[in-house]
Amino acid sequence: MAREEIVESSSGIITSTVDFVFNWARASALWPMTFGLACCAIEMMATGASRFDMDRFGAGVFRPSPRQSDLMIVAGTPTLKMAPVIKRVWDQMPEPKWCIAMGACASTGGPFPTYSTLQGVDRIVPVDVYIPGCPPRPEALLYGLMRLQDKIMQEHPTRFVFGKGNISQEDVEGETLVTA
Ligand code: SF4
Repeated sequence: MAREEIVESSSGIITSTVDFVFNWARASALWPMTFGLACCAIEMMATGASRFDMDRFGAGVFRPSPRQSDLMIVAGTPTLKMAPVIKRVWDQMPEPKWCIAMGACASTGGPFPTYSTLQGVDRIVPVDVYIPGCPPRPEALLYGLMRLQDKIMQEHPTRFVFGKGNISQEDVEGETLVTA
């Protein structure tokens, strides 16, 4: 959180920008879709459990419905058979929404360059953060989550209000992030 975006006077008045407040609220309360495709989903479940505690980042409330979710973590192997289902779930999520490709399979097809596997979930949904690994550890998912929060903090939601177009995917500074 950039300190310079909050100005506090000696009389106790705090000023900021609408963009900053919207971004802070959105980044601090991500609701992931309850959704897993293969082995990476086990790591995602571990991330949500008490040892790693995703709630520390405001993202531990996994929702049972896409209509209540704003984050899709694609954890597992996206097969061609599942691709239309993934796309439908994504389309049912309201804007603003974000997507993390967790693991090699979701990012590139991983160890399955086969006729049955989608070679990257970004062929059907826009991905904001890619997390390498087979599978990535929970720490990697948490790091990817923090990078997504950094990305959300750079958005400009008021441009939508003032007619300069929405910002959720194309107009984000920094473009797509790849975690280390
Ligand atoms: S990246 Fe590895 S661990 Fe994750 S779904 Fe693919 S094969 Fe399984």
